[in-house]
Amino acid sequence: MPLLEIENIICRIEEKELLSGLTLSMERGEVHALLGPNGAGKSTLAYTIMGCEGCAVHAGKICFDHRVINALAIHERARLGITLAWQEPVRFEGISIRDYLTVKRPGIDPCDCLKRVGLAPEAFLHRMLDASLSGGERKRIELASVLALNPRLAILDEPDSGIDMLSAQDILNVIAEFRKNGASVLLITHKEQIVEIADNASLLCRGRIVCTGNPAKVVAYYQSKSGSVCEEEACLYV
Ligand code: ADP
Ligand code: MG
Repeated sequence: MPLLEIENIICRIEEKELLSGLTLSMERGEVHALLGPNGAGKSTLAYTIMGCEGCAVHAGKICFDHRVINALAIHERARLGITLAWQEPVRFEGISIRDYLTVKRPGIDPCDCLKRVGLAPEAFLHRMLDASLSGGERKRIELASVLALNPRLAILDEPDSGIDMLSAQDILNVIAEFRKNGASVLLITHKEQIVEIADNASLLCRGRIVCTGNPAKVVAYYQSKSGSVCEEEACLYV
C-alpha cells in the first residue's frame, strides 16, 4: 500500500477549480518529482496535501498511511509526518536560528541540522533569523528545520521563477538527507538535473496529472510539447 494515495481530488478556491480529478500515488521512501507549467496547480496540490487553509478537497480522497486525511487540520497532518517547505523561505524576526530549529523538536542537535544543509554552525547558530540573512541562507535554514522534524513525507515547493535560492547540487544534497531518513519526497521543481534523480515523475496540467512514470521519459514528453502541453488531454503512463 502506498504511503500517499490521492484519488481523483477536486479542489476549488473561490469558484475556480484548481485541481480537477487529480490522481497520484507515492510509495514509502519514494522521491517523486512534479513538473508542470506555471499556474498548473502544483503549489495548490502541495497546500492541499498539507491541509492549508482554503485548500479543502471537494471530492475524491487523500489517504496517508492507510488513513483518509481529507478532514484533518494542518497540525494533525503535521503530526502524522507530513511537512511542507514553502516557496518563500521563512522570515521570523526576533528569534535566533538555534531557537527556530529546536523549538519544533526539543532534543535535536541544531549544529548537526545546520551541517546537513551546508551551513557552518559556528557562523549561524546564534544569528537572528532576520533580513540580514540572504534568501538562500533562509531557505537552507528552513530545510534544516524540515530535516529536524524527520518527516515521513516532505513536500518541497521550489520557486517558479526568478532567482534560484538554492543550486541544483544543494537540493540534491537535501534530498539525499531525506533519503537517508527513509522519508518520501514530493519535489516540485523545474530543474531537470533534479528530476533525473527522482524515482518517478509526474506532469501536472490544468489541475490534472497528464503523465506519470520514469523521470527521463516524463521530462522528454514535457519538452517535446514545448509549452503547449496543456492544450491536449493526454493521459499516459511512461
Ligand atoms: P503552480 O504552482 O503550478 O504555478 P498554482 O497552484 O500556484 O500553480 O496556481 C494554480 C492556479 O490557481 C493559478 O491559475 C492561480 O492563479 C490560481 N490560484 C492560486 N491560488 C489562488 C487563490 N487563493 N485564489 C484564486 N486562484 C488561485
Ligand atoms: Mg507554484
